[in-house]
Amino acid sequence: MHPHDQTIFALSSGRPPSAIAIVRLSGVGAGPALQTLTGKLPPPRLATRALLRDDRGDPIDDAVVLWFPGPASATGEDVAELHVHGSRAVITTLVSLLSAMPQMRAADRGEFTRRAFENGKIDLTEAEGLDDLIHADTDRQRRQALRQLKGLLGDKARSWRDQIIQAAALIEAGIDFADEGDVPAELIAPALAWIRQLLAEIEEVLAAQGRAERLRDGLTVVIAGPPNAGKSTLMNQLARREVAIVSPHAGTTRDLIEVALDLDGYPVTVIDTAGIRQTDDPVEQEGVRRARDRAAQADLVLWLTEDDQAELERQTDGPIWFVRNKIDLMITEQSGAISVSPESPVFAISARSGAGTSDLLEALVGVARDYFGSTEHGLITRERQRTLLSETAAALRRSIAVVDLGEELAAEELRIAALALGRLLGRVDVEDLLDVIFREFCIGK
Ligand code: GDP
Repeated sequence: MHPHDQTIFALSSGRPPSAIAIVRLSGVGAGPALQTLTGKLPPPRLATRALLRDDRGDPIDDAVVLWFPGPASATGEDVAELHVHGSRAVITTLVSLLSAMPQMRAADRGEFTRRAFENGKIDLTEAEGLDDLIHADTDRQRRQALRQLKGLLGDKARSWRDQIIQAAALIEAGIDFADEGDVPAELIAPALAWIRQLLAEIEEVLAAQGRAERLRDGLTVVIAGPPNAGKSTLMNQLARREVAIVSPHAGTTRDLIEVALDLDGYPVTVIDTAGIRQTDDPVEQEGVRRARDRAAQADLVLWLTEDDQAELERQTDGPIWFVRNKIDLMITEQSGAISVSPESPVFAISARSGAGTSDLLEALVGVARDYFGSTEHGLITRERQRTLLSETAAALRRSIAVVDLGEELAAEELRIAALALGRLLGRVDVEDLLDVIFREFCIGK
């Protein structure tokens, strides 16, 4: 247990006004605060109706309160939840009363989760899973986050770490017992076999994950093409589709730069290069900068044209699909087809009427499906996790390679491997990392 002298509180539910708002408290002051507000401490873990009163005894709200004495709580500390009516007035009154209590302050981003981590309630991979779950837009992202939250990677990492430590102990025992000369092969051989097996398991996870990590960010598709080809119109058309739109990032009030689509559970971000332009508005500039960066790394470019001259300005090395727009204007018996390389799919659409866009979306789903492959078993969702697992694998490989040069060297590499796994779980020297990870969280989480 990691006692904090300050009690934190936060509005853990969404932005007011809302039907109900949940204010959560964690720390030694949670109980006294609950007692001050309601007059008595309710029974643990039972939803209890209570009238909250201010310091003059005037009623604030008719609430439902919950009391979770630590350590059997989400953070491991004493936790209280106040379910009040979600009006700004109620929340403001409550927050100002709480702020005035001794050793009580508003929580930083992710601070509840951080305390849960520090109190050993969750490991770091689970904390990351929690963050992903909160930010999941699509069903597949949700399922992946839930796997992480359930601690599948953490459980594996813990087991690998224990086994590596045992294998190292075996080798070290061999060193101690060999009073002169070489360590007996009967001691080293089983340890090596064990390490090889662990290495194979870790390599398998590393190889299988590729796409799971990307599932957090999604596939990026860029709409490019000559001016007036209809890029913005196509963008609006996509944004209007019911299957589409998760969260439009409005660049200007008029134009969308990015649309996040949920295509069969796969997150696909479409960027309109027509929306990328010079602007003086600093907020918009930031949107433009982000869109440009992402466009440069697009997984797929939709090259939109309004005539048969599919002149292409290559902006990425990725695949390009040619999309002939404005087919509603096409006179029947059009002469000459679009001359493009045979491997590039060609679509004919009307961005304005929406004709042909279903085929385009369907093809995009196909790409997403191929691209992400089966992420059902992906365990790694972040670069941090992949880097540390790769370090672990590399150290295991080195330990096998150097064992002939000296058992001590092999044991040292095993220590490095165990350390990397410890970092993955957040057990060793992660202070600075913690700030980075928990800063991404929501307030109240
Ligand atoms: P952008 O510069 O590539 O973003 O092109 P816009 O989306 O602004 O479109 C240019 C013009 O073409 C606008 O007047 C659109 O209304 C028109 N346009 C776009 N798509 C179609 C289409 O499918 N059919 C027709 N007839 N006009 C279209």
